[in-house]
Amino acid sequence: MAEKFRLALIAHDEKKDEMVAFAVAHRPWLAACSLVATGTTGQRVLDACPELDLKRLKSGPLGGDQQIGALISEGRIDAVIFFVDPLTPLPHDVDVKALMRLAIVYDIPMALNKATGEMLALHIKGRAADRKGGRK
Ligand code: PGA
Repeated sequence: MAEKFRLALIAHDEKKDEMVAFAVAHRPWLAACSLVATGTTGQRVLDACPELDLKRLKSGPLGGDQQIGALISEGRIDAVIFFVDPLTPLPHDVDVKALMRLAIVYDIPMALNKATGEMLALHIKGRAADRKGGRK
C-alpha cells in the first residue's frame, strides 16, 4: 500500500499566523499526509487542527531545522513548506541556510512563501488523494 505524503512545515514567528491559516484552509488534504514540523509551528498547527497526523520536532533555534534537514538526507521527506520571515535577523540563520541547501541537494520541493506554498499545495493535494488510505 502506498505511503502517505510526507510533508514538513516550518514558519518563523512573524509567519506563524499565516501558517495556521494555511493549515486550516488545507486541512482536508493535510489530514491525509504524514506531517513533521518544528516545535512551535507544530504546536500552533495542532492547536488549530488537532486531527492532523503531525510529529513535532525541536524548535527551530534549538535544532528543529537541522532535524528536518537530516530527515531530507535520509529520504524521509517529500516536500517542505517553510514560511520564512525575510525582515527579522534570526539566531539560527545558518540552520535555515543549511536546510535550504539540503532541499536543493536532494531536489526536494520547498516553498518559502505563501504563494509558492499554495502552488505546492495544489500538487500535494492530488498526490495525497492518490495515496488515500495509505500506510498508517
Ligand atoms: P519553531 O521553529 O516552529 O519552533 O518556531 C521555526 C524556526 O524558527 O525555524
